Formats: sequence, structure tokens, C-alpha cells
Amino acid sequence: GALAVTLLPLAPTTATAAPVVAQAPAKAAAPGTVAGGTTVHDSLFGEIGNTGYDVKHYGIALAYAADGSVKATTTIEATAKKKLSSFSLDLEGLTVDRVRVEGRTATFTRTGTKLLVTPARPTGKRFTVVVGYHGRPVTHIDPDGAQDGWVPSTTGATALSEPVGAQTWFPNNNTPRDKASFDVALTVPKDLAAAANGVLRSRTTKHGKTTWTWRQRQPMATYLSLVAIGDFDVYRSKVKLQHGRTISAWTFVQPSLGKAAAQRALLPKVLRFSEQQYGRYPFDGTGMVIQDLGVGYALETQSRPFFDGVPDDATLVHELAHQWFGDSVTPRDWGDIWLNEGFATYAEANWASEHGGPTTWQAFRKVYDANDTSSDLWKPAPNALEDPADLFGDPVYVRGGLTLEALRHRIGDEKMQTLLSTWARRQKGKSVRTSQFVALAEQVSDQDLGWFFRSWLEVTSKPVGY
Ligand code: ZN
Repeated sequence: GALAVTLLPLAPTTATAAPVVAQAPAKAAAPGTVAGGTTVHDSLFGEIGNTGYDVKHYGIALAYAADGSVKATTTIEATAKKKLSSFSLDLEGLTVDRVRVEGRTATFTRTGTKLLVTPARPTGKRFTVVVGYHGRPVTHIDPDGAQDGWVPSTTGATALSEPVGAQTWFPNNNTPRDKASFDVALTVPKDLAAAANGVLRSRTTKHGKTTWTWRQRQPMATYLSLVAIGDFDVYRSKVKLQHGRTISAWTFVQPSLGKAAAQRALLPKVLRFSEQQYGRYPFDGTGMVIQDLGVGYALETQSRPFFDGVPDDATLVHELAHQWFGDSVTPRDWGDIWLNEGFATYAEANWASEHGGPTTWQAFRKVYDANDTSSDLWKPAPNALEDPADLFGDPVYVRGGLTLEALRHRIGDEKMQTLLSTWARRQKGKSVRTSQFVALAEQVSDQDLGWFFRSWLEVTSKPVGY
């Protein structure tokens, strides 16, 4: 069980807050070691993440019982630049039963959404942490009032992790700048299905329970992790991609919503269309989760997007575009969210223009003209957010998309295409800042775009013309 250890309370998370160091037991930290930090100073979520280590892999084994409780073990493989005398993980709710570091029992304490761990001896530069825990995971309420994290459904539960909900179902380094591979084994009553990210490695039934084992090999940010447990119809198929590669699609549909046949048929078409625009599909599996959960949004959960009900074409296109922009190429900081949402909104217009809708030019021109300087569309500027409640607002999505349309006007179709595919290829699997996109745009176009991007992304007022 938990050892009672008194630690300093967590200081308020400001840039000047002292790192939390275990004060007891009274052993001084070994020379050459440091405390692992308790925040990465994200511009919008001051508490998330840790600077002391980099997670390489999460191995999660989670058993879900019919009463809604879970019992789980998360194994974290991490590297640190310096040996750590203590470190923190993000975790909200649940009861921690034990923590082991490098096979030795570690002491731990909880404060706010931090699990503070003091290993028996300082970690090596590579180390493994095993956290055993149980309970009924909580649902997280976002700054904009939406629900994420662990959301109970009529027949099970679904975990949606953007922006910070991942911490409601496993302990982690909950910042989009730390990406890792994932193995997730979900053990559920055998009449239920269990989806996660990536490809299915095995499915075995024993003593009335089925374990579904999923692997996401390509690096994934915690906010893109998915669990969907419940009564689903499960559809498996092969998808042939643009470049000849064939991958498996696993789609989970709530039975009362029908077969979602049109959307399942559209998925490979949208993937191939997106490959023509942005380059190779970045993952080795695909599929969807389609259910009436009631959260009111769709989500680009990596390789297997989630839809709150049967999606229309535009929503499907949006979440699949995120696989390149958001999932494979991930913002380092939540303030760079327009790199996700502006791009996915722009992708919707591209798809529509080639499939019987208005041209990209017409669609965005209409929005630009319809919103005068007093419109809320222009504030806040997409890359100057101060309030995390604005992450998923129209300025980020629509003004963000308009930014790319205005850029296309400025640099031309061909360079725009080169820019987007080069961005996706060069930054594949990484976490990036807006300044890196600006630098690439300047390089590809051979233009000075500093003023252009400032007026579109940072200045509150309506950008003049394009
Ligand atoms: Zn989106």
C-alpha cells in the first residue's frame, strides 16, 4: 500500500515556482542528481508535464469490470538527461496502490493532479516505472466546459484525451511535447469490445473475459490516446493506400446507429485523397469509433478517430486530415493548436472543392466577406491565445484555415502543396512550434512572410485583404 511520506505541498505552477523536492525521508539527494520538475510551462496549461524525463514507451494493462471500475498497471519506460532523485507524473483521480522504479518499491504522494515519486535510489538515465492503481476513473471537465477523459457510456466507457484527459485513466507525462509508443491491453467482459490506438496484436478470451491488445508503434502524444469499451459491432477490413501499402482498418460502431456503411466506404477514399495532398499516411492502422457518447465533438484519436454519432463527410475528412496535422506532426505547446485545427479546416475545404462543393477560394472568401471587423471570428488571434477555453473556438478553426488559404494566394498552388507535404514529411512524429512552420513557408516560397503571419495569427483585428 501507499507509504505515508510527507512531502512539500506543490508550489503554485508559475515559471518561478521552486521544483518540488522530496524533503522526507531526510536522505539528501545523491550528488549529480536532480528533481524531475512538475511542469513544462505550457502557455495554456501551466500544470501539465515534467521536464526531467522523456517517455519512450507506455505499456498499459487495464481491466474493466461491468460495475464501471478499473484495475490497471501502467509501465513507463523513460530516459532522463540527469539521474532523478524524484519526479512527477500527471494523474487525476483513481487510487494508486504501488509504484516501483527499476524494480524497487518507491515512495509516492499525491497533490492536485501530480503523482510525486521518490525512488529508493536515484534513477538511471534510462529507467522503468510501474504504477499499479484502481478505481472509477473521473471525467475531466475542460476549460470550455466540454467533457473529456474517461466518459461512461450506456454499455461501457470511452476515454478521449484532448487536451488533458489522458491523466484520468493512466499516469503519464501529459504534454504534447513528449510522444511515445504505446501498448495497451484491455481486459473486458467477453460480451463487450475494446478499442484503442494502432493495430490489434491479439484478442484472447479466458474465464468470461476478453483481452484486446493494441499497439501504436509510431510516437503518440498522450492527448491522442483512445479507449472505447462497450457493445460495438466490430468491422475489420483492408485499406489499400495511395502508394500500394495495405493496412488494416478496425471500426467500432454502436449497433443502434446501423452499419455506418457509407462512412466505412468513404474512409479509404479520404485517406488516399489526403495522401495525394500531404504525403504518405503516417500510421500502420486505421479505423473509426462511432457512437452516441454525448460529448458533442469528434476527435482525431491517433489512427482511429472518434465520432460522436455517424459523421458527415466534412467531419470525417477533418479528423483524417488531423492524422497528418495534429497526430503525426504535433504542437509542442497548446498555444500552437491552430497547427491542428486550422489545417484540418483547410483540408475540409480542399475535399469539398474536389467533390462537388464550392471551391476553396469561394468557401473562404464567403467567410472573410461575411465577417466584418467587429466579428468575433477575429478574436482572439489563433496563435495568441491566452485562455484555454478558446482552444477549440472559431478563431482557431476558421481564421486558422483562412490563414492557409491566404497563404495559398500569396505563394501559389504549387508551392502550397510543396509546403504542406514537406511539413508533414519533415516533422513526422515530432512536436513543433508555429515559428518552424513560418520558417519552412519562407524557405519554400522564397518570400519574407513575417508580417503576413503576424497579421493573420497574432494581431487581434481582421487581417486586411488577401
Ligand atoms: Zn479538429
